[in-house]
Amino acid sequence: MPRVAIIGGGISGLTLAFRLKQYLADVDIQILESEKSVGGKIASFRDQGFIYESGPNGFLDSNPSTLNLSKELGLSEQLAPANDAAAKKRFLLLGGKLRMLPSSLLGLLTTDVLSWRAKLSIAFERFQSNKQNLPDESIYAFAQRRVGTEIADKLVDPFVTGIFAGDAKLVSYQAGFPRLAAMEKNYGSISKGLKAARKAKQISNPGGRSSGQLWSFNQGLGTLTDALAEKCGKSNIREFKASNLIHDKETNKWIIKGSNGESESFDIAILSCPAFSQAAILKNHDEMLADKIASIPYNSLAVVVMGYRSGDVPIPLEGFGYLTPSSENRAILGVQWCSSIYRGRAPAGTVLLRAMCGGSSRPEMVDLDDDSIAKIVYRELQASMQIQAPPFFLKVIRWKNAIPQYMVNHLEKVREIENLLTNHPGLYVTGNAYKGISINDCVENAETLAVQISRWWSRARETIS
Ligand SMILES: Cc1cc2nc3c(=O)[nH]c(=O)nc-3n(C[C@H](O)[C@H](O)[C@H](O)COP(=O)(O)OP(=O)(O)OC[C@H]3O[C@@H](n4cnc5c(N)ncnc54)[C@H](O)[C@@H]3O)c2cc1C
Repeated sequence: MPRVAIIGGGISGLTLAFRLKQYLADVDIQILESEKSVGGKIASFRDQGFIYESGPNGFLDSNPSTLNLSKELGLSEQLAPANDAAAKKRFLLLGGKLRMLPSSLLGLLTTDVLSWRAKLSIAFERFQSNKQNLPDESIYAFAQRRVGTEIADKLVDPFVTGIFAGDAKLVSYQAGFPRLAAMEKNYGSISKGLKAARKAKQISNPGGRSSGQLWSFNQGLGTLTDALAEKCGKSNIREFKASNLIHDKETNKWIIKGSNGESESFDIAILSCPAFSQAAILKNHDEMLADKIASIPYNSLAVVVMGYRSGDVPIPLEGFGYLTPSSENRAILGVQWCSSIYRGRAPAGTVLLRAMCGGSSRPEMVDLDDDSIAKIVYRELQASMQIQAPPFFLKVIRWKNAIPQYMVNHLEKVREIENLLTNHPGLYVTGNAYKGISINDCVENAETLAVQISRWWSRARETIS
C-alpha cells in the first residue's frame, strides 16, 4: 500500500491528514509527531475549575474554513461563540491608562484616543486612490503612507503585536495582511475596500459582522485537534521526531530518519512542522531549499495564565482585554480577559486572565524563570488594572520560536521555495510559516494542499501503472 508521511501534527498536519484520507483510497497516511500529543500550538487544559488555552484563543468565521471543518467533524454542539459585547470592546494601554478602542469607522472619527489630524487622515484616506501594483513594504510603512504616523503607532503597531507578537516596522503588509493589500489594489483605498466588504457581508449574511464572529469550543480549542486526531485514527499518529529526509532514486521513495536512528520509507513526504524544523530535516536533501526555509524567522512568547478571585480585580472586566503599543514601552504585550470572552472558563466568583510576554519587543522575557516572569506581569497588572493581590491560580507557558514572522518580501521567498520544490515531486511543505498564521489560514492552506496532492498522486499512479 502506498504510504504518505506528514511530519508535524499541529492543526495544519491534522487537517491535511483528515482531507487526504477522504481523497486517497488505499493509502496509508502516517502523522509523525515529535511530541507525546498532537495539536501543536493548540492545547486546552482543565484545572481547578478553569479551562485555559496555552496557545490560540479562538478563530474568526470571516474565513469560514475552521467553522465548516468543525461542523463537518460533528462538533456543532460543542462550538462556543465569544461574547459579542466583549469581543467588540477592546482596549489599548495609552499613557498608562486603559482606553477603549473604537470598533467602527464612526467610532474612529469620534474617539478621543486620536487627534483631529489622525481623524482627518482617516476621513480623507478614500481620496488617496491608488490601484497600482506597489512593491511590498512593512505594515507600519503602509499605514504611515495611507493614514499617517499617529495611527501607525497607536493602532497598527499593537494590532501587529496581537497577531504576530512582532514588529510592525518589519512585518510585510502584503504577506501579513493580504486583505488590506487586496483592498488597496482593487479599490484604491482601505475605506472603500472595507465598505465593499461590509456590503458583500450584508448580502451573504444579513445582520452578520463583516469582521466576523470569534469562536472556540466549550472545552477549548483542543476539542478541534482531538476530533481531527480521532478521525485520522490513533494508530496512524506516531511519536517520531524526524531529523533527516533523503530521496532514494532507485525506489523513488522518501526515506525519513528519526532522531532515535529509526528510518521509514514513504511515497509522499509532507513537512508541516515549523520552518526551522523543516529546514533541519531537508538540509541533506536540498541545501538551497533548506536555507531558504530556514531564513523565515520566529518570535518567542510566554503566556501567563492567571486565576483571580473576582473581588481582587477592581475594574469591570467588560471586554476582550488590552494591547500595548510599543511606544508605551511596557514589559508585556497585552492581556486577554478570557472569562469575559467565553462562558465557563472560570469557576463562580473567579476570573481568568492571560498575559502575553516576549515577542519582538521583549524576547528576553521568555528565558526568565516562572517566578520572574510572574512578578513582571503582576507589576504590569497593578499599573494597568490596579490589581494588587497575586492570582491564586498561575500557569506559565513558554513558546520558544512560536510565531513565524513574515518579513517584507516574504511572499517572494514563498514563491522561491515553491519553485525549488518543483524539483522534488512527492515532497511538499505546509504550515503556518508560509501563507497565513491564523488557524483559519492553516486549515484553508492544508485543505488546498490536500487537493493538490491527491491530483498529483492520481497522475503519478497512472504513470506508474
Ligand atoms: C500563544 C499563541 C496564540 C495564538 N493565538 C491565535 C488565535 O487566537 N487565533 C488564531 O487563529 N491563531 C492564533 N495563533 C496562531 C496559531 O495557533 C498557529 O499559527 C497554528 O496553530 C499553527 O499550526 P501548525 O500546524 O501550522 O503548526 P504547529 O501548531 O506549530 O504544529 C507543528 C507540529 O510539528 C511538530 N514538530 C516539530 N518538529 C518536528 C519534527 N522534527 N518531527 C515531527 N514533528 C515535529 C510540533 O511538535 C507540532 O506539533 C496563536 C499562536 C500562539 C503561539
